[in-house]
Amino acid sequence: MPPYEEFAEAIRPLWDSRWLTNMGCYHKELEEKLKDFLKVPGLSLFVNGHMSLELAIQAFQFAPGAEVITTPFTFISTTHAIVRNNLKPVFCDIKWSDGTIDESKIEDLITEHTVAIVPVHVYGNLCRMEAIQEIADHYGLKVIYDAAHAFGMEYQGRGIGSFGDASVFSFHATKVFHTIEGGAVAFTDPKLYDRLYTLKNFGIQGEELVTGIGANAKMNEFSAIMGLCNLKYIFKSMEGRKKSYEFYKEQLENVKGLRLFRKEDNATNNYAYFPVLVEEEYGITRDELWSNLRDENIYARKYFYPLTSDQACFKNKYRNANLQRAREISKKALTLPLYEDLAMESQERIIDILKNRKGRIYVSMGEKRAGVLPSGL
Ligand SMILES: *Cc1c(COP(=O)(O)O)cnc(C)c1O
Repeated sequence: MPPYEEFAEAIRPLWDSRWLTNMGCYHKELEEKLKDFLKVPGLSLFVNGHMSLELAIQAFQFAPGAEVITTPFTFISTTHAIVRNNLKPVFCDIKWSDGTIDESKIEDLITEHTVAIVPVHVYGNLCRMEAIQEIADHYGLKVIYDAAHAFGMEYQGRGIGSFGDASVFSFHATKVFHTIEGGAVAFTDPKLYDRLYTLKNFGIQGEELVTGIGANAKMNEFSAIMGLCNLKYIFKSMEGRKKSYEFYKEQLENVKGLRLFRKEDNATNNYAYFPVLVEEEYGITRDELWSNLRDENIYARKYFYPLTSDQACFKNKYRNANLQRAREISKKALTLPLYEDLAMESQERIIDILKNRKGRIYVSMGEKRAGVLPSGL
């Protein structure tokens, strides 16, 4: 949260203008500032990350029933956004090294019905964007990145949202940067600005003209002001996360049976998540470790388990590749608490439990310790 007084002072003008939503001046200001900060050619703000993704996909006007190649190792929103556009997700396996879509397996899944690829920079681990673009160009497919985990990241000096046809960010309260609820679509084709503007505003073109079937997905002025306040502290916030991230890394990278994902060398990091993979040599399972932490009021998350393709609403409905690797990673991944002001003392307790492998001996009967907040949703 930004300092309370700063936010309170910043929202005061709304009591005079009474302009609370419908693309007001703070909406415009945040859009411009984020465009610069994210180093993207175009940007449109939305009410949340999910609607950003849903309407970004809709903006390309794919034929109903067409196929979209995507990853099952993601938050359910990614798959919902595809299916709610009347498109068919085709799930592709992921890579062992970083959990992102396995670009070498995409081509096998392409049919005459394929129209797009929706990869996810999961945990801020970046997809192989050159390879994906090459495939997309060859087959005439659109690439829409779910970049909800990659806010503020750069690859080879370019804003991460400048790759592909569009990239979607989430500004939910649990993310690195937030507007309470919010999101954005970054894009390269300037024509998308008007199309997205119309789609987030009921398809309205003029006072008496509705040309498209839009939704209501506008960001309001309170959220835009929250974003403007938070943007002032984004480097401080990432710096705080970095300290905890580096400490986890130093303490855990040589623990037998714990594996860390590979990070791209040519990219910056936003320190959003710290996932570990609990391998067999660790001695206890991911779920046992999760329980040991939970006994101590430490809320690590099984991100992402189950795979979205295995969720009750999607199971056995779509044509899938062999998802063996995704299933295995999904059973092994655990995301540790990580936030700007995570106390060193709390982090040491977490690391102790991870190093010990038998967290249960830490249960101290009768003693109620302060909980450690979850790292995300
Ligand atoms: C958070 C998130 C979303 C959805 O964003 P909201 O702002 O919560 O709607 C989509 N995809 C991924 C990978 C996310 O982590």
